[in-house]
Amino acid sequence: MIIDSHVHLKHGNAARTEYSAEAIVEVMDAAGVDRSVVFAMSTTTRRSVEMAAEAVEQFPDRLIPYAYALPSYERSVLGELKEAIGELGFKGIKIHIGECRLTEYIIDPVLELAAEHGVPCLVDFGGDFASTERIARGFPGTKLIVAHFGRYLCTDAALIERFIELAESCENVWLDASGVVLAWTIEEAARRIGADRILFGTDGPHPMPDLVTFARAPLKQIEMLELSEEEKALILGGSIAALLGL
Ligand SMILES: [Zn+2]
Repeated sequence: MIIDSHVHLKHGNAARTEYSAEAIVEVMDAAGVDRSVVFAMSTTTRRSVEMAAEAVEQFPDRLIPYAYALPSYERSVLGELKEAIGELGFKGIKIHIGECRLTEYIIDPVLELAAEHGVPCLVDFGGDFASTERIARGFPGTKLIVAHFGRYLCTDAALIERFIELAESCENVWLDASGVVLAWTIEEAARRIGADRILFGTDGPHPMPDLVTFARAPLKQIEMLELSEEEKALILGGSIAALLGL
């Protein structure tokens, strides 16, 4: 079972590109992906829940919903998140440092709520190691998925090393291998923290060079790693299935 742990119904790019559930499933079929975790960003928490709920209603066997947490001074969004997880069966929470402050009084209640409900937080930390460390160590009961091994398309091996080291010392940390260009760091992480805490993801859909080629590339990247077939199977789906209790 191949599970893409990182797919956008709405991206955080300049155009705020949206993809329909049909479009996402079409790409999955062509690329050979069985199931995908889907979420929207660049929108309100409430709208992100509506978008993911609608998508999963159309493809309940293929798509797995995360809610997008956009808490602020004004609004905690805890009500929306509780409803999504408790009543609608959402499996996780997406957080992005580009749109959400990771300051204690803003993000900590969301991290506590995730721990209470046993769902993971997939956080794009944008390379902010200090925030990642504060959260990983400060919330040992919160399952934390660090997007892109710490920073999207990162070529700074020393920075990635810090995130792997953090995952080594914090068992509540998983590493999302989407948008990782230094492929050998995935092998390195698998050796040190175990493939059961590494997650395959495409961070798609993306039209360059075309939707299907983009989705296949990270899949091939994992398949070509010098890891055992068991380890690859974990990264490609087993790890996220265990994490989400699928
Ligand atoms: Zn993403």
